[in-house]
Amino acid sequence: MGLFSRRKPVPATTWQPPQRPGCACTRHLDDELMGTVVPFSTALAEDVGIEPEAVTVADLLHPGGLSVQPARDDEQVPDAPADLTWSLGVYDDARAHYDDTDDGAEVDLDTALAGHPGVDRVEWCDREVFLLAAPTLCADGVLAAAALALLDDRVRAAADTSSR
Ligand SMILES: [Zn+2]
Repeated sequence: MGLFSRRKPVPATTWQPPQRPGCACTRHLDDELMGTVVPFSTALAEDVGIEPEAVTVADLLHPGGLSVQPARDDEQVPDAPADLTWSLGVYDDARAHYDDTDDGAEVDLDTALAGHPGVDRVEWCDREVFLLAAPTLCADGVLAAAALALLDDRVRAAADTSSR
């Protein structure tokens, strides 16, 4: 993998998504990760007033939850290096599992994603679309990174019942 680490990020136009085992992912969607229950955001639990049914990482991997595809040329940020390789969709079903820092979360989801090995940069370009500069990760590894970000408790506001 030394080759990859020395190489500068390549423009998305010439980049080809890595495939296992040629990727540099530290984690893929293994059985343990797929079966892990993703906690709901505190705000949602309070809104609904009931404890929703448990959702696992596997439950979120569908077009209304988490999905990933190579970033398109027209998704690159103007005047920035065209190094965004993956377009990660965190749609409604996944939205229920994180808060913004405005709502009391310790870190935003993009920050949690950016801390994942192999993710060089994250652009939160739309409410539910994150563009990642992660040229050495395969699609499976990007979804694993997204799942691990949602499993990071810092992306949810701490439960606080005392002041309400
Ligand atoms: Zn991979």
